[in-house]
Amino acid sequence: SDVRLSDFERISVLGHGNGGTVYKARHRRGCPAQPLALKMFTVGDASAAREAEILKLAADVPHVVRLHAVVPSAAGGTEEPAALALELMPGGSLTGLLRHLGRPMGERPIAAVARQTLLGLESLHALRIVHRDLKPSNLLLGANGEVKIADFGSGKVLRRRLDPCASYVGTAAYMSPERFDPEAYSGDYDPYAADVWSLGVLILELYMGHFPLLPVGQRPDWAALMCAICFGEAPEMPAAASEEFRDFVARCLEKKAGRRASVAELLQHPFVAERDAAEAQRSLSALVAESDQSGDL
Ligand code: ATP
Ligand code: MG
Repeated sequence: SDVRLSDFERISVLGHGNGGTVYKARHRRGCPAQPLALKMFTVGDASAAREAEILKLAADVPHVVRLHAVVPSAAGGTEEPAALALELMPGGSLTGLLRHLGRPMGERPIAAVARQTLLGLESLHALRIVHRDLKPSNLLLGANGEVKIADFGSGKVLRRRLDPCASYVGTAAYMSPERFDPEAYSGDYDPYAADVWSLGVLILELYMGHFPLLPVGQRPDWAALMCAICFGEAPEMPAAASEEFRDFVARCLEKKAGRRASVAELLQHPFVAERDAAEAQRSLSALVAESDQSGDL
C-alpha cells in the first residue's frame, strides 16, 4: 500500500488507550478533506496487526467501525502497522458520554446501545470473531445515536470451534467467570458467551453510572475483581429498573457460560424489541447531542 503516516495531518486527540493514542486527523490529499480517526500504535505492538486483520474481515459487518487504511511502519517489511485510519465517530465513546452527561443513562438509550451492539456481535460471531474487550470505552457513537463496536486489539478469529480463548486479554473488569478459570468450565466452554457477559456488565455500568461489580471506591485489583466476578452476587438493581431490563441483564450475567443467553436469544428479548428500536435510538441521539462532545469535532 502507498499510505504513509506523513500523509495525515493530526488535528486533535480523541482518546488514549493502552495501545497508543487516537487522533482526529485528515488525509492531506483527501478530497474532500474528510476528517477521520488515526489510531497510532507504539512500535512493535502486536495488537496492531490483529486489529487490522479483524477489521478487514469485518468490513461488511454492521455496527463495527470502518477501517479506511492500514498505515505501515516506516521501516516497511513484515513489521506491525504504525497506525490505522478509521471512520471518525463524532459522538466519542460511551465512557465519554457518561462523563459529559454527569449522570447515569436511562433504560431507553441503553436499549439502543444493547440492540446495536448485539446486531454487531451477531455478525461478528457468525464470522467466528470474538471481541473479548467489550466495555464502554470501546463502543463509539455516531451523531444520530448509532453505536459501533471498536478496538479489536484483543479480538480473535477462532479457527476451531472450541479454540480455547481464555488467555487474559482485554480488561479484567469485564471478563466473564469462565475466562478466569477455563479449566473449571471446560465442559461447556463457549468463547462467544464471554462477549455476552461483558455486554451485561457494561450496560449495567451505563445504568448505575459506575462499574457495577465492586463497591464504589474499591480498588479494582485483580484479586478483588476475580472474587466479585466468580463468587459475588449480581449487584442490587435500583428499584426503578423495569422487569424487562432486570431480566435482560440477568440473562447476560448468568455465571455459567452454558446457561447464559446467546446473542440470538437476546435479540429476541423484549428489552431490545425491534418495534421500539427507532424510538430508543432517538433517545440515545438526544443524549449525544446534549453531551456536546461532538462540539469540537
Ligand atoms: P484500550 O486499550 O484502553 O481499550 P486502545 O488503545 O485499544 O484502548 P481504542 O479503544 O481503539 O484504543 O481507542 C481509545 C479511545 O479513543 C476510545 O475510547 C475513544 O474515546 C477514542 N476513539 C477511538 N477510535 C475512535 C474513532 N474511530 N472515532 C472517535 N473516537 C475514537
Ligand atoms: Mg479501547
